[in-house]
Amino acid sequence: MRSRVSVVRCPGYESRELSSSIVTALDLIGGIESVLKPGSKVFVKINHLSPGSAPERAIVTHPLFTREVLCLLKDLNMDVTVGDDIQFEGEDGYLVSGYREMCREMGVRLINLKSEGFRKVLCPGGQAIPSVHISAAALDADGIIDLAKLKTHAFTAFTGAVKNMFGVIPCGLRLKYHNRFPRNEAFSRMLVDVFSCLPPALTLMDAVTAMEGLGPSGGPARTVGLVLAGRDAVAVDAVAQSIIGFGPDDILTTRYAAERGLGTARLDSIDVVGERLQDVRVDGFRKAAFPVGLLERKLPSAIYAFVSGRLILLPEVAADKCNGCQECFKVCLADAVRMEDGKARILKKPCIHCLCCHEVCRSNAIKLRQRLLGRLVRFFSSVFKIA
Ligand code: SF4
Ligand code: SF4
Repeated sequence: MRSRVSVVRCPGYESRELSSSIVTALDLIGGIESVLKPGSKVFVKINHLSPGSAPERAIVTHPLFTREVLCLLKDLNMDVTVGDDIQFEGEDGYLVSGYREMCREMGVRLINLKSEGFRKVLCPGGQAIPSVHISAAALDADGIIDLAKLKTHAFTAFTGAVKNMFGVIPCGLRLKYHNRFPRNEAFSRMLVDVFSCLPPALTLMDAVTAMEGLGPSGGPARTVGLVLAGRDAVAVDAVAQSIIGFGPDDILTTRYAAERGLGTARLDSIDVVGERLQDVRVDGFRKAAFPVGLLERKLPSAIYAFVSGRLILLPEVAADKCNGCQECFKVCLADAVRMEDGKARILKKPCIHCLCCHEVCRSNAIKLRQRLLGRLVRFFSSVFKIA
């Protein structure tokens, strides 16, 4: 079956232009009412990484983007809950991003998922995990709206709509899965298992300002100026990947999800409406990690296993930037981070390269080093325009 994804220009987060772009993007795919009846109970899954960060850094789905979607949902009398599973100690993790204030103004319930608990559900056709604990608030909704953020990712290369649903499981479990699935292939299969439990009814992607480089939290913001929408989250990811320069099937979550019938990844099976893809592609969008899905398809399995293992990025602390906040220490289940003289230090031997420490560091103090083979693969790939 063909999927439809709308791509609409949006120059910034000013309310009028943002509202117009989001309404157009939704109209082009049939409108909210085509998937959710007025008055429905809706859970809006934002991308809100911990610790909190200002929206200008492009780490979180911009609260003004979410606000415009909430206005439309309120017009339809939806019973709305906004949330993510965020970690904070002693302070409100939603304050710094502006979500607390925005949802208060809108009169919409904003929750940290752990406050309402999780329930165990079976993963249909699970390939890495047979079951998983999912947010009760998300499970009890009539439908999920996935408000993804367009970002690169140092481990999975890309993070969008499918990976955003990883946030509906408890933080402690996410860390355990990082530890249990240190390779991209198994980790991506696990992400698709989680996604399969709760595929969203509707996906909107905040690609107004995206993150390039060392995403999902350490790269610079880059204006892309687009809103994407679709009922098929996998297709939305596939279109977004194409816009920033990933080839078909490069991103394993997209490919695995499509192989399991959870959506469409082939661009020739997706009706892109609004802007034409060739008019909105972003030149030179900097990537964080090499998309190993590309190599997996092109190399014999033994060579692929050898090469892909050497493409992983190695975290190192830049002591001059480290403020000793201990976030990396708390998140590392491999016991690879030491705090010494108020600074973090990463031990090479126990490190499993999950890059959770990099994701939580808001001081950009964790640098990622590529091994020589990885640098060579990336160099020749760029020379020959393979990735
Ligand atoms: S490396 Fe980053 S996360 Fe770790 S203690 Fe230093 S500033 Fe905090
Ligand atoms: S040091 Fe960082 S990359 Fe290494 S295992 Fe710990 S959290 Fe993961």
